[in-house]
Amino acid sequence: MDSDSSNPAAFSLPSISLQTISHLSESIPNLLQLPNPIDKSPYYHPNPAFYISSSDVLLRQILFDLSTSSSPLLAYHRAGPRSQIRFDPATVRAAIVTCGGLCPGLNTVIRELVVALWDLYGVRQIFGVQAGFRGFYSCETVELNPRIVHDWHLRGGTSLATSRGGFDLDKIVGGIEEKGFNQVYCIGGDGTMRAAVKIFNEIQHRKLKISITGIPKTVDNDIGIIDRSFGFQTAVEIALQAVHAAHVEAESAVNGVGLVKLMGRNTGHIALHATLSSRVVDCCLIPENDFYLEGEGGLFEFLHQRLKKNGHVVIVVAEGAGQNLIPRTESQKAEQDESGNQVFLDVGPWLKSELNKWWKRDHDGELFTLKYIDPTYMIRAVPANATDNLYCTLLAHSSIHGVMAGYTGFVSGQINGNYAYIPVEEVASAKNPVDTKDHRWAWVRSVTNQPDFN
Ligand code: ATP
Ligand code: MG
Repeated sequence: MDSDSSNPAAFSLPSISLQTISHLSESIPNLLQLPNPIDKSPYYHPNPAFYISSSDVLLRQILFDLSTSSSPLLAYHRAGPRSQIRFDPATVRAAIVTCGGLCPGLNTVIRELVVALWDLYGVRQIFGVQAGFRGFYSCETVELNPRIVHDWHLRGGTSLATSRGGFDLDKIVGGIEEKGFNQVYCIGGDGTMRAAVKIFNEIQHRKLKISITGIPKTVDNDIGIIDRSFGFQTAVEIALQAVHAAHVEAESAVNGVGLVKLMGRNTGHIALHATLSSRVVDCCLIPENDFYLEGEGGLFEFLHQRLKKNGHVVIVVAEGAGQNLIPRTESQKAEQDESGNQVFLDVGPWLKSELNKWWKRDHDGELFTLKYIDPTYMIRAVPANATDNLYCTLLAHSSIHGVMAGYTGFVSGQINGNYAYIPVEEVASAKNPVDTKDHRWAWVRSVTNQPDFN
């Protein structure tokens, strides 16, 4: 980029690179085009500026250094209703599937997909696919309407049931075709997004008029590009209750230790946010920052100092932390779950046992109380809080607008506070690790005084 260093005002913006998403018109000749029926919906009051045009874009990054940025700025299509739609609502057969683990807000997304398809676009054939991807070929689908789903946002879990594994591309695409679905809404985590890419490619290959979209679900907030995933804020809120309980237990004992394991296999966002918002955590252990137990600068030394000074400590450990420290048997090394993910060893009980052994070894005879809390299933199972409920609604509506407009192979997500359509293969490979070099991790270090374990 050219710049005049003597005149800061002379910086010019780098060019913009638009991350385009696929459209059914690329593979379907003479694709139908109709005016958007939202005009007639009592919920929306369109004006000329209401509809989003294909030239409306969002920048992925809003902070950059003009003196060093030379690569093009990535931009995505803005989400929202288009003035023209590519599906006749009377012929739409929409399928909704939930895959992977539970996350607060799953039922809200399903509910809002059903209600908005029905109320905004007049779609009447909406189906729930049961028990994850295998439901496309091994179970009956359930017909959904606003009356059935009206209170689903108040329930945790997924009323469609979910599962891992069962990914058989031929059978899934065959099931989609056989059941006559032409819109497929996949709600799930990273694995589900990778599966959606394969289904999308196969549908493209077969030149079918089927639009497929992903709505990323990850309670751990481990998906990149988007601001956050739905359910994350609820998860932090419930995690905080566990952290406060651990604090009460620790404070009420002599040499009391409260140990809380929080979700986060690859990323420590929940642990980090719970630590920062609770103000009672002495040590936060996350997968992105290796730690060790023994010796100078290790966890035991730090805990001993804190116990001497404060009489109690609270430790938060993310489930993916310390995996390199936990001894693995040969069979555990090879073990995978049904979806092919590496099985994580349970860091909570392991750390609890190591702490008890350490105390007995080095401080035998001195009082010591360790209380371990694992709130994982409580966190996953609660309904979404108000903020997440709203977020789920906007994600569901954005997905429907994109699909009705004929886009396919995309994900709806919030980027810098606005909603965008992102190619699903980009989301499937985008990670969101905690940046241990940035100010938030420095902030964790300052509120906990924990060692850096370097
Ligand atoms: P969670 O956040 O709970 O991990 P997830 O979507 O990552 O959610 P998985 O169990 O890994 O959960 O995957 C969900 C579904 O996607 C499963 O049916 C699985 O078989 C399928 N899947 C996962 N990874 C792939 C892949 N690489 N290719 C095809 N299908 C996949
Ligand atoms: Mg996953």
